[in-house]
Amino acid sequence: MQEKDSIKRDPSETMKAPKYMGIPTFMRTPLITRPSEFDIAMIGVPYDGAVSNRPGARHGPREIRNASTMMRSIHHVTRVNPYSLCRIGDAGDVPFENVYDPEAAHQDITQFFSRVHSAGVVALAAGGDHSITLPILRTHASKGPVGLIHIDAHTDTWDGSMGSKFTHGTPFRRAVEEGLLDPKRTVQIGIRGTQNTSEGWDYSHDNGMRVIFIEEFLRLGVQAVIAETRRVVGKGPAYISFDIDGLDPVYAPGTGTPEVGGLTTIDAQALLRGLRGSNLIGADVVEVAPPYDPRGNTALVGATMMYEILCLLAESVAVSKQEKQK
Ligand code: MN
Ligand code: MN
Repeated sequence: MQEKDSIKRDPSETMKAPKYMGIPTFMRTPLITRPSEFDIAMIGVPYDGAVSNRPGARHGPREIRNASTMMRSIHHVTRVNPYSLCRIGDAGDVPFENVYDPEAAHQDITQFFSRVHSAGVVALAAGGDHSITLPILRTHASKGPVGLIHIDAHTDTWDGSMGSKFTHGTPFRRAVEEGLLDPKRTVQIGIRGTQNTSEGWDYSHDNGMRVIFIEEFLRLGVQAVIAETRRVVGKGPAYISFDIDGLDPVYAPGTGTPEVGGLTTIDAQALLRGLRGSNLIGADVVEVAPPYDPRGNTALVGATMMYEILCLLAESVAVSKQEKQK
């Protein structure tokens, strides 16, 4: 098959083939060989060398790809078809040269995402543990500090753990310190669970992040949380980081640090849909750990959240393409 033909193929057409056939790229999109021919790239980041508890998220991208073959093209609520708005493909996995040294592995991630971004392509990543978000945010540094919509059981603003400052519990603290993230345009949603110290929660609060613990989420309801998120993030560029452990383990058991009493899948979907029209520059779904996901449900949930976010990104990219043409 000609490479060019495969890129030109409309994914809406290829999605008419039986779902169980073919090589499972994300959402059955074409494999990207020339980034400049695409608007949005989905990228696997199979790295979990910075976890504090159970490893396994390194297997996330492969299982999410497999589960994502269930994702069709048209969104049932918004009727958005991301593939009619943008050229979308799968750029494969970050080709790691280092996996045993977290800081070197993070450099591999930054290098790969920089290449994609320099071709003018917006990235939607599938982790991997949450430490991967820091090296991705580093590739957005030229835009100045960005806003963040962060769904998670944990604030991930701890200072460090067991002698490392680059674990999956620290990315957003480092991102603030490195000037990548504007804490005043950051919302953290679904926070809960026991801690031995309140240091991470305190850091988020003291630096002006809007922290919505799960109890407040339930008290406010999803529509008010959407309004609050939009108010805090505003019109500036923003990144979505979706840690699957923000969901209740009933919905997403396959993750390294599960916390009971979390978001439902339908609330998370409604929340994401409420972010339409935001100025999004990139996103990730992280911490899907297939070894604890024997039924494959967490991978399906991860793929579904990626699809919801893909619709948002496609609309956001389409708007900025229109503005550039003016
Ligand atoms: Mn996290
Ligand atoms: Mn978490």
